[in-house]
Amino acid sequence: MSKHHQVLIIGGGSGGLMTASKLKKERSSVAIAVVEPSDKHIYQPAWTLVGANAYDYDKTIRSEASVMPKGVTWIKDKAVSFSPENNEVTLGSGDKITYDYLVLSPGIQIDLDGIEGLKENMGKNGVCSNYVDPKYTWEVLKNFKGGNALFTQPTTPIKCGGAPQKIMYLAEEHFVKSKVREKTNVIFASPGSVIFGVHPFKEELERIVQKKQIVTKFHYAITKIDGEKKEAHFKLAATGDNQCVVNEDPEIDEKVTGDMHVVIPFDMLHLAPPQSAPDFIKTSPFSNDAGWIDVDVNTLQHKKYKNVFGVGDAAALPTAKTGAALRKQAPVVVGNILHLIDENKLGDKMYKGYSSCPLVTGYGKMLLAEFGYNNVRMSDPVLTRFVDTSKEKKSMWYLKKYGLPYLYWNKMLKGKMMD
Ligand SMILES: Cc1cc2nc3c(=O)[nH]c(=O)nc-3n(C[C@H](O)[C@H](O)[C@H](O)COP(=O)(O)OP(=O)(O)OC[C@H]3O[C@@H](n4cnc5c(N)ncnc54)[C@H](O)[C@@H]3O)c2cc1C
Repeated sequence: MSKHHQVLIIGGGSGGLMTASKLKKERSSVAIAVVEPSDKHIYQPAWTLVGANAYDYDKTIRSEASVMPKGVTWIKDKAVSFSPENNEVTLGSGDKITYDYLVLSPGIQIDLDGIEGLKENMGKNGVCSNYVDPKYTWEVLKNFKGGNALFTQPTTPIKCGGAPQKIMYLAEEHFVKSKVREKTNVIFASPGSVIFGVHPFKEELERIVQKKQIVTKFHYAITKIDGEKKEAHFKLAATGDNQCVVNEDPEIDEKVTGDMHVVIPFDMLHLAPPQSAPDFIKTSPFSNDAGWIDVDVNTLQHKKYKNVFGVGDAAALPTAKTGAALRKQAPVVVGNILHLIDENKLGDKMYKGYSSCPLVTGYGKMLLAEFGYNNVRMSDPVLTRFVDTSKEKKSMWYLKKYGLPYLYWNKMLKGKMMD
């Protein structure tokens, strides 16, 4: 195997493969290698639907070999450390490989140690997560007999920030169908202060939350899960001027101790686990103080190492971490690498923070939040000519269930339909 690659990509997930395909499509002569340890490629966005029994789990997974772009070398190994001064990466096998240009797209790490009791209880005692095992989420929903159905998320950044509430809307509708809704409290406890940060999607979600009679608890940061007692412990996240006064909510059997500590009993708990940049990135010369890949937010070029780029969930970009964002990130990186090869300077394409969250609000309903940096709405002008994407719609559900998976496997992973 060659030890030197013109373009070396770390991670053969969504970002790595979209970048590789787009680059090959733009210029087939560029020699590209992808370092990816897994022999499976997962379409994670469909895991929301798997958790509600609305999508076949097996269809979310394909072999890595089948999605690796033609002409790209797959190095089936993991990157463990970097020596950017020598343009060198050390692999798990101990092999060292070198590059002209490096693209980092290793995704985000799930930190089950980030909440006391999470690791021990994940996958049992009614504690589930679509981020870990969506099939178990469905087991929990299917067997739920009523009581407190608690949905929450951590204080860390997470991929697909809307996923913790999408499964809640689906679960609520399932409880209606399974005739347990009347004896169920559906509770959304979040460290944030609003249901969603972007107008006008926020207002539509607030209307849906009210219609579904979901109990919301804002500024609640989960700290501990007691699986045996089936209790979730929260710290009140707001401090100083924003100090919120919490009155115990007897309907849900909530207990407040002191100013800051709240306990909510649960009969089922769905949560997004804490997440962070992968450890090998945190300890690398590429990370910022918070551990993320320290790139320019518009050019995606590393701030110090000019032949290094970052895309995807691990990049330090102040926007939502989604696969949809990669549709706009990959072309910027590809354009910049080609300009560097040809003219030794960057191209003029800029990433404006585009991200999108298909907010499933029930079986057969969805609204499509698209936005950029500073939470400014960036809805697709063509799509919005035909449909008001800020309102829950059946047509949008078909997009989620059929359209987006098709586009992902057949277009985006092949370097098409990106700009
Ligand atoms: C439940 C859920 C719902 C979601 N819903 C949506 C949605 O509706 N819409 C949307 O756009 N996005 C959604 N996402 C988010 C989306 O899947 C991610 O944002 C996207 O996959 C990020 O791409 P990435 O390349 O950064 O990471 P990934 O696609 O996760 O790929 C990272 C790759 O890097 C590899 N890797 C890790 N460590 C190393 C190493 N040391 N060396 C080499 N390779 C390594 C991994 O094996 C993996 O293949 C959802 C995610 C989840 C979990």
